[in-house]
Amino acid sequence: MTTTTTIDLKMYINGEWVASGDRTTIPVINPASGEVFAQLPQGTVADVKEAVDAARKAFDSGVWSGISAQERSTYLLKIADKIEEYQDELVPLETQDNGKTLTEAGFDVADAAACFRYYAGLIKAPDGQTYHVGDPMQAMVVREPVGVCGLIVPWNFPLLMSVWKIAPALAAGNTIVFKPSEVTPVTPQKLIAILEEVGIPKGVVNMVTGTGAEVGNAIVESADVDLISFTGGTKTGKHIMKTAADTVKKVSLELGGKSPNIVFDDTDLETVVDHGLFGIFYGTGQVCSAGSRILVQDTIYDKYVERFVERAKKIKVGFGNAEGTEIGPLVSQQHMEKVLSYIEIGKEEGATLACGGNRITTGGLENGYFVEPTVFTNVTSDMRIVQEEIFGPVVVIQKFSTEEEAIALANGTVYGLAAGVFTNDGARGMRVIKKLKAGITWINAFGPTYNEAPWGGYKQSGVGRNLGTFGLDEFQEVKQINVNLEVGPVGYFQS
Ligand code: NDP
Repeated sequence: MTTTTTIDLKMYINGEWVASGDRTTIPVINPASGEVFAQLPQGTVADVKEAVDAARKAFDSGVWSGISAQERSTYLLKIADKIEEYQDELVPLETQDNGKTLTEAGFDVADAAACFRYYAGLIKAPDGQTYHVGDPMQAMVVREPVGVCGLIVPWNFPLLMSVWKIAPALAAGNTIVFKPSEVTPVTPQKLIAILEEVGIPKGVVNMVTGTGAEVGNAIVESADVDLISFTGGTKTGKHIMKTAADTVKKVSLELGGKSPNIVFDDTDLETVVDHGLFGIFYGTGQVCSAGSRILVQDTIYDKYVERFVERAKKIKVGFGNAEGTEIGPLVSQQHMEKVLSYIEIGKEEGATLACGGNRITTGGLENGYFVEPTVFTNVTSDMRIVQEEIFGPVVVIQKFSTEEEAIALANGTVYGLAAGVFTNDGARGMRVIKKLKAGITWINAFGPTYNEAPWGGYKQSGVGRNLGTFGLDEFQEVKQINVNLEVGPVGYFQS
């Protein structure tokens, strides 16, 4: 079913908005209603080339890299102000595009503004180093922008993931070729309009829309792109890493996870169940750091499962913009089918389906991509539902008896993105966390993150970091400069 009016999205290349023209368009669907509400130009390899050329020219001209950090910072602060000014437009758009609740979208918009402000401040801090290498030499290190950066983002946090990459890339003085997910391109387009509105110079920011297979791949293949910063699935990340090897690009990858949430028996049951629900079901489970494996000590396992299931069944699933909705739909029909297929796999593998497991087709939700909060128990580590990222409202609850066993289970997947430990024993909490192979960890919490702290994973959860000073490092080269203060012959060769 299509609505009568749809938004005609555009690309942004060399300071101009580019309509779809003769290009194929891709329908953008509201996942709560199944309705098409926008059309997206399917960019081509030629569009990518034009965008990369514009970004290269802008970079080489120094129009952005050559101005002071103070000036770039002023632009970033203006962007943050504009994001807040357009909050009432951005929040419902994000809900319409991704399905997330208005509350979740509100957090994302606030975080997006805060992220620009963070990098506006950080870029003005002193950087570089000097070394005492002995007279007459003076050695120093300066930081420089990398050049043209290809930024490729997914659909789970369409605005925020764009900002996590665009803010540090621009702060450092780079120019960008940006590709939002074809599934959720609407708020990213609004963000680019804001960048234009504050007067970012022509060619510095370029957005090419379309599929990953064509547009994403062309960005990664381009010899004129110096760096790829990607967030998305591990399979795509591996492909990008291989493709980028041909031109030896810098690559930063934030990939999937199967993150453990370890619960010891010295904790308050209501509290740990509450955190467990938040850890997996926030964002309908479409969060890379979701606590999708809950490991509970055997002494409290049955009570934990009983209370968790009781509460999971009561979660209000519905339209993201409806009063009282706690979680929205999955992002697309294709993704819903993937999540439902994993639920079938879990049943076939012999896990116990403790609750959920179905698409919701009643109460006005029948045209959307809604899936019940789903809990599997009686699972073993070799099951695919324990090992693979499902990226939906599906959790497995496993049992352990000792601290050592909990650590071994927690580390027992190819992923290493996030992990949490709940215990009232402070020393044990820290001891366990230090043994977990994960880049983002919590003790007695599961989920909060901060612009100041690095976000990224160990093992197959990625390479490099977003956010914090480490996130800025990704977008900078370091150069050593050695200056001879007494110029004269070296005198090494006697001839
Ligand atoms: P992808 O990893 O395929 O997509 C993420 C981004 O990469 C999108 O912009 C996509 O474009 C683009 N892309 C896809 N293929 C290529 C390519 N060959 N070269 C360059 N860019 C490419 O995620 P999916 O949507 O397919 O989701 C698959 C799974 O990935 C999910 O089920 C989930 O498990 C995981 N995932 C993890 C995320 C995370 O935050 N870590 C986020 C999203 C997904 P386009 O979509 O426009 O084709």
